[in-house]
Amino acid sequence: MEIAGLKKTSLVDYPGTISAVIFLSGCNFRCGFCHNPSVVFGKSAKIDEKEVMDFLERRKRVLEGVCVTGGEPTIHDNLPMLLKKIKSMGFLAKLDTNGTNPEMLKKIIEENIVDYVAMDIKAPLETYSFAANADVNIKKIKESMRILMESKIKYEFRMTLLPKFVSIESFKEICEMLKGAKRFYIQQFEKGSEMIDCAFKSEKAYTKEELNEFLNVAKEYFEECGIRNA
Ligand code: SF4
Repeated sequence: MEIAGLKKTSLVDYPGTISAVIFLSGCNFRCGFCHNPSVVFGKSAKIDEKEVMDFLERRKRVLEGVCVTGGEPTIHDNLPMLLKKIKSMGFLAKLDTNGTNPEMLKKIIEENIVDYVAMDIKAPLETYSFAANADVNIKKIKESMRILMESKIKYEFRMTLLPKFVSIESFKEICEMLKGAKRFYIQQFEKGSEMIDCAFKSEKAYTKEELNEFLNVAKEYFEECGIRNA
């Protein structure tokens, strides 16, 4: 497993928790709007796992949680081992995932080595591969959704809304599909200094007012929802 980065303190990556964030290299998607091409393509400088664990050990009294993100963490077979180490140090563990590995998701939930999962929703199911810029197995995405919704752990679905990928009508269909989920967060599209597809630097975003219309739809379906980055 290659660790591409470590954010030493974050107040936003793990809701309600002071956390560190570990970035794992590589991803099986190529979302054009992704801000982390160097992590996705494994081009960031690598950090030794021992160095990360030593840092966490020293910060045990300050940090409450550790968020494991990517890239896509579940492409790494030894992710469960990393989560086990994090939990054995007494931290809460959060996983960010694109939902392509339901088998691993099920395993880490059953083994009780994850406390919170945030799963990205990329687009309506019919256009998922287009948005992810990859050949997506929709059955696996749906299975991950089901596993989370039937689990007892904390989880959220979150979606970056781009006019190119989702309209208010198709958003309603997504909400219907996830009806009953505990948390759903809308994320504003932000242009990064680096993006996987530079064409997205001139991509149109929804306005704050338009995002609020999406939020009003989401409120009809989810107990807890909101807008991030707006
Ligand atoms: S935004 Fe897409 S390409 Fe970037 S890390 Fe997430 S799933 Fe991978």
